[in-house]
Amino acid sequence: MKGKLLRLAAVRTPEGTRLHVRGKSGYVDVAKASGDDALVSLDALFAGGDEAWQHARDAATGEGVPVEPKDFGPVVDKPGKILCVGRNYREHALEGGVDVPTWPEIFVRFAESIVGPFDDIVKPSLSEKMDYEGELAVVIGTGGRYIPADRAMSAIAGYALLNDVSIRDWQRAATQWTAGKNWDATLPIGPELVTTDEVDIADLGLETRVNGTVVQSSRTSKMIFDIPSLVEFLSTFITLRPGDVIATGTPSGVGFARKPPLWLGSGDVVEIRVEGIGTIRNRVVAETNGPDTSRWQPLAGKDASVVQTPFRAAAQPASRS
Ligand code: ZN
Repeated sequence: MKGKLLRLAAVRTPEGTRLHVRGKSGYVDVAKASGDDALVSLDALFAGGDEAWQHARDAATGEGVPVEPKDFGPVVDKPGKILCVGRNYREHALEGGVDVPTWPEIFVRFAESIVGPFDDIVKPSLSEKMDYEGELAVVIGTGGRYIPADRAMSAIAGYALLNDVSIRDWQRAATQWTAGKNWDATLPIGPELVTTDEVDIADLGLETRVNGTVVQSSRTSKMIFDIPSLVEFLSTFITLRPGDVIATGTPSGVGFARKPPLWLGSGDVVEIRVEGIGTIRNRVVAETNGPDTSRWQPLAGKDASVVQTPFRAAAQPASRS
């Protein structure tokens, strides 16, 4: 269906955010190049099927315009669901003081926290423990239910990068992670959706830098549950739909596990690269409209770098082969 590798982007223009594809030079507006006025978004591309994909491929042969980093919107901005894998790299599980999982640990984020791949991310005034998580993002193309691992690739549209920015004190204050994983403006995603046919994603280098210093460096081949397995697992309990995002987990080197911990503060710049896929880069800014005081002060005086997972021992399956 997808054919030749395409690099799709959501570009902010005076006419709104519009679907573009990387051309022979710059980026080409897919709707304008094809004459199909509906093709202004990734959702429209997914809905348009083979004909729409052909329009995108044709547009990619044209000459485009340069795009400034600030003009890249989130490559997916309103996914129906964002399914995240907690602890999908062995060293990251170990640095957090827990056993290497034998069963996928899934949590969810909502589209509300998404920002563009070069937009500012916002440090909440009610936290001093903002952390980064560089990850490869999978974007579903056709989706479905009970997708076997050996057919998973045909359900995927492509790949992007994301930073699963985590507010650790809010994450650790309870056993459910939702509150620490969904603050506004904490999920940059992009810069492009890279279709998969010509990129073997099984073994790509992934690197995160904070203010230019490498803090995470690993390879996608080190995932505990690889991408086909994740698609198979997730589609076992829920229908995957076009545009859904899977955050495939972060390697070791996150801020909370460092000695001393490395928390993000205003002015810091986080950059994530995945070989062959791209780079996202976001500056941290302090929240300006937060309350001065709040009834809700998680872990006041406690150490949020200590992982608190009281249910883990009971939830651990005895053995699996
Ligand atoms: Zn994560």
